[in-house]
Amino acid sequence: MKELEERILRDGKVYAGDVLKVDGFLNHQMDAALFRRMGEEWRALFPQEVTKILTIEASGIGIACVAAEVFGVPALFAKKSRTKNIAGSVYTAQVESYTHGGVYTILVSKEYLTKDDKVLILDDFLANGNALLGLMSLVEQAGAELVGAGVAIEKAYQPGGARVREKGVQVEALAQIEAMSPDEGIHFC
Ligand code: 5GP
Repeated sequence: MKELEERILRDGKVYAGDVLKVDGFLNHQMDAALFRRMGEEWRALFPQEVTKILTIEASGIGIACVAAEVFGVPALFAKKSRTKNIAGSVYTAQVESYTHGGVYTILVSKEYLTKDDKVLILDDFLANGNALLGLMSLVEQAGAELVGAGVAIEKAYQPGGARVREKGVQVEALAQIEAMSPDEGIHFC
């Protein structure tokens, strides 16, 4: 998506440790008009029936919510919990954090993710793939159908894309970064 690539080049900042900061329009301050056009891109890339958009808190929520409006379905976000033993009617998965390190539990209520759902997963970044794999586990536990996964930015030189695609999942990234560094800047595929 040309507009997203141009925005990343204009406002993104590459930090040491393979972190791209896009706080000005995606991760902190949010450009909702851009999110709507991203939602329309995903709609075109995923013409299949979708009944629910699933994401992970916190930075997926904005894009998922606006995309959900485009798809005409609810957005559901997996909550992050520090509690190890979660009682009650929830599906849980363990996810290793890319930006903060450590492992955390994600959970969704069984009430909102069911075997009748056709789920599109959306997230801001795809790096090592742990966030998407954790969300996919929740979909599988619910017996729901996974339509695919959309990400705003895939760092294509990291292994996440291959890890998810080799499971047969349709993954669509709106911007794919081939290489980036604080000195050399950002290069798209
Ligand atoms: P993964 O689980 O694929 O390794 O990483 C994806 C998650 O880590 C995303 O939900 C995102 O929040 C975060 N993340 C990964 N790489 C970056 C990055 O370069 N910049 C930012 N801001 N977040 C990232």
